Amino acid sequence: MYDIIVIGAGPAGMTAAIYARRAAKSVLVLEALSYGGQILNTPDIENYPVEAHISGFDFSTKVYEQTKALGAELVFEKAVELREENGIKVVITPKNRYEAKAVILATGSENRKLGLADEDTLVGRGISYCATCDGNFYRKKVVAVVGGGNTALEDALYLADLAEKVYLIHRRDSFRGEETSVERLKEKGNVEFVYNANVTKLIAEKRLKAIEVTDKVDGSVRTIELNGLFIAVGRVPENQNFASLVQLDDAGYVMAGEDCHTSCDGVFVAGDNRTKALRQLVTATADGAMAATEAAKYINSL
Ligand code: NAP
Repeated sequence: MYDIIVIGAGPAGMTAAIYARRAAKSVLVLEALSYGGQILNTPDIENYPVEAHISGFDFSTKVYEQTKALGAELVFEKAVELREENGIKVVITPKNRYEAKAVILATGSENRKLGLADEDTLVGRGISYCATCDGNFYRKKVVAVVGGGNTALEDALYLADLAEKVYLIHRRDSFRGEETSVERLKEKGNVEFVYNANVTKLIAEKRLKAIEVTDKVDGSVRTIELNGLFIAVGRVPENQNFASLVQLDDAGYVMAGEDCHTSCDGVFVAGDNRTKALRQLVTATADGAMAATEAAKYINSL
């Protein structure tokens, strides 16, 4: 039995593991994919204290090494169920059953899809949800980014330095993401802003070759020929596997305040899958520290 099982090895989960180890608790971190989570897709982090510029990959690797050095165990298995048996928390993966006194949910979120026909089948054939992973395939080609948040803006900035042309398609006429990024994009000579527009059709022959974009104001439809479409329209929380034990809000986020306590004693939540006002790297790591500290307090009180 572990003291604490952390589910998710993104910045929130790994920070929770660091704090839990420093509180002398035994820690298992379960991760479905790879360490790092969403921040892996960020080419250049500029708003986290200490480093003015660091890639999401380098950041994640440093935190991963720090987590391992402190003695947290990391296992790459997906937690598919969380239940309570006689006051013990039980986490089920497809291969194993793990037990702990406390659990920290740090599962983050997954890509939101546009919901268009053929969107899934064209992934890897013109459609991508990760500019830093796939941008290199589109050197000197024509691409579009859809979305208006920080991810879309940063993806467009990254791609503008690689691609011949970047269309940035947003459903409103002002961006949700940071103004400094918008200003930088305006200075690039190869970025065309397409405002008040939705991508309404994917046109493909084996690979994506064009998209149809519908103007929300006048209803006109425009066809844009391109090689790649990067979809960056936000994320949806990954909490459904835990819904029988902890209370979720209507959007699927685990309900918790700044103390990271969930509706279930001994289960805590950290990072983007928690109800909160600001989802940033710095607030994710702050949650990790808080959740682990509260989990250690909970264990000490048993
Ligand atoms: P986000 O902030 O939720 O933005 C999603 C964008 O997609 C919004 O502009 C939204 O439009 C648009 N959208 C949503 N559904 C859509 C649909 N069906 N069709 C077309 N457009 C749609 O998501 P994000 O950009 O992935 O960022 C997630 C969080 O991570 C944010 O808190 C962000 O600040 C943070 N982040 C931070 C950094 C950084 O600090 N360096 C980098 C990346 C992300 P509306 O604006 O009209 O709602």
